[in-house]
Amino acid sequence: MGNDTGNRRRRIVIIGSGFGGLFAARKLKKADADITIINRTTHHLFQPLLYQVATGIISEGEIAPPTRLILRKYRNTTTLLGDVTDIDMTARTVTSEAMGMTTVTPYDSLIVAAGAGQSYFGNDHFAEYAPGMKTIDDALELRGRILGAFEQAEISTDAHARERLMTFVVVGAGPTGVELVGQIAELAHHTLRGSFRNIDPSDARIVLLDGADDVLPVYGGKLSANARKKLEKLGVEIQLQAMVTDVNRDGLTIKRKDGTETLIRSQCKVWSAGVQASPLGKMIADQSDTTVDRAGRVRVQPDLSVAGHPEVFVIGDMMALDDLPGLAQVAMQGGEYVAKQLIAEIKGKQTEYQRPDFRYWDKGSMATISRFSAVAKVGRIELTGFIAWLIWLVIHLMYLVGYRSRAMTLFAWTMTFFGRGRAQMTITEQQVIARTALKEQHRPAPPAPAPAAERDAG
Ligand SMILES: Cc1cc2nc3c(=O)[nH]c(=O)nc-3n(C[C@H](O)[C@H](O)[C@H](O)COP(=O)(O)OP(=O)(O)OC[C@H]3O[C@@H](n4cnc5c(N)ncnc54)[C@H](O)[C@@H]3O)c2cc1C
Repeated sequence: MGNDTGNRRRRIVIIGSGFGGLFAARKLKKADADITIINRTTHHLFQPLLYQVATGIISEGEIAPPTRLILRKYRNTTTLLGDVTDIDMTARTVTSEAMGMTTVTPYDSLIVAAGAGQSYFGNDHFAEYAPGMKTIDDALELRGRILGAFEQAEISTDAHARERLMTFVVVGAGPTGVELVGQIAELAHHTLRGSFRNIDPSDARIVLLDGADDVLPVYGGKLSANARKKLEKLGVEIQLQAMVTDVNRDGLTIKRKDGTETLIRSQCKVWSAGVQASPLGKMIADQSDTTVDRAGRVRVQPDLSVAGHPEVFVIGDMMALDDLPGLAQVAMQGGEYVAKQLIAEIKGKQTEYQRPDFRYWDKGSMATISRFSAVAKVGRIELTGFIAWLIWLVIHLMYLVGYRSRAMTLFAWTMTFFGRGRAQMTITEQQVIARTALKEQHRPAPPAPAPAAERDAG
């Protein structure tokens, strides 16, 4: 079967250097194998703190260390920059593109951990006016949009326009949406206070929208109620059972359960509702005996491999197994589990038919609301307030990669949570227009004008 490599060292390819990919690579550091980790960016990204980059608390460097430097001491590992465009499960190769160059990397074992992107539930055109927050580029653009809206409001002399500029709408009341509105409120009410002459930043209208019945619906009960109360105290307007039916330059259209529609005029809109797994999932399903679910996640075997392909594993946000949620812990534990199986097989301690099932250890989940306030659920234990916030702080520091990142983040948090200052408030025009500029760059070049004679003939 699939994994016989003769006398050659096994070639293990990992797609993605996020939580799943990085934890697999780390576990494989002493394996008698050649590991190649391919990622479309040069960094590992700690996504749970993206909202703090977007709101000026920490810098991008703290949560996005270069993968090459993290793995430099692992002599068996090669880090490759590339956007994977093709997986050929018959030839066992992965094709990636970077800066106009194509690389084809052969594999004996493949770990696919390319994560998920934002889902607009079939309304991809919303993305232009309500970007999501999945990458460093997104977070920096968002910082530009948030702070830029206050700047424009200061200049504007039209009260109607000012109102629109100072209305911030976040769609999706999951942990990311809650954390983001909490920090926009802190910015408006504390950090920016007294720094404008024509506007009062605390007049900002900050709206959190969701089609669900409550904020943080995965928690429910006491934790959701606590989060709602805290957000309202911060001045956040919460609109539930509200479906977004349109997003354009001017604002958003909301449809309620009773069928009524309203328009919220807003310059700065953010989308944090729904995820869609990497399209590589569909590519894998099309070449094997499995399928993808509605979120594009690959339905994997209990050992996280793909049906009929024990040499291909799909982990993290890309896999569908036992309703496991899209959480960092699921990806990390999946990456470590797969690495452990491969090490045992390389050492001849087990075959691919003897793998134990993957068992997820639920260590709980949490979300911050504002400084000194969070909600956390660990098994049946539910925590709110300062204790939950302290646990959140320790856990996030623990999982940040690198001592330097931890020290810098702790320093930034001390400054923000005790003094309310923020060191990363720089915005550039380029950050905000980059998305449009990049789109233009990728657009096919217009056909060259026809030679003069041909034109004349027409
Ligand atoms: C804003 C935000 C906040 C979050 N907060 C929390 C939280 O508080 N707690 C929690 O547990 N989880 C949180 N999550 C979810 C958590 O980050 C994910 O579950 C986790 O990152 C999944 O790990 P992964 O390895 O599957 O994917 P990722 O970590 O997303 O990594 C995927 C990697 O693959 C790369 N990639 C994608 N496509 C390609 C391609 N075609 N070619 C090459 N490389 C590619 C990407 O660049 C990325 O580096 C949050 C997510 C977001 C977006």
